[in-house]
Amino acid sequence: MNKSPKGRAPLIGVLAMQGAFVEHLRALEAAGAKTRLVRTREDIEGLDGIVIPGGESTTMTMLMERVGLLGPLREAIAGGLATLATCAGMIVLAKDITDGMADQQGLGLLDVRVRRNGYGRQVDSFEVPLRIEGMNGHEFPGVFIRSPLVERAGRVDVVATYDGHPVAVRQDRILALCFHPELTDDLRLHREFIRMAASGGPR
Ligand code: GLN
Repeated sequence: MNKSPKGRAPLIGVLAMQGAFVEHLRALEAAGAKTRLVRTREDIEGLDGIVIPGGESTTMTMLMERVGLLGPLREAIAGGLATLATCAGMIVLAKDITDGMADQQGLGLLDVRVRRNGYGRQVDSFEVPLRIEGMNGHEFPGVFIRSPLVERAGRVDVVATYDGHPVAVRQDRILALCFHPELTDDLRLHREFIRMAASGGPR
């Protein structure tokens, strides 16, 4: 099990406004983390990391705004809180969103431009094997569901691509994925994230 600097299992919050948060909770616990659902700004206190799940980015940001979570979460992530963002979560974090709602407001922290539903609306979902940098062994099952397409990658490290576009990127303590590891049995990315959260940084 991964231990945080304080010698206990890292505590990972999962943003629970809407979307696939239960699946992340299960994967994180199976991978050895302690978990907490995040619904208010108080829930961010004391976390070693946070997951922003897939779902509907417009609804998620609207709900965060409504409960007063948008500002505090932006501050925490900008301050170094380890963050795993999947699919809609990547859109929520992105600096630039194309094909968003007119007033779609996100956290604006991840230096990418993403196109919502960029893989096409007809082909809603598909699965492809992905080669992920630094991950030995077999390829990772990439489950894409109305995923964002990364149109421009700025100050990020691209750790996986598909069809010529980044599908996994890292920026400081943020790991953002276009696909859904929580919908597979493969825990390698959750384990990697827990390691990253356990390795310290501002709390
Ligand atoms: N298309 C969704 C959005 O724009 C994301 C889909 C997903 O998270 N599976 O927010």
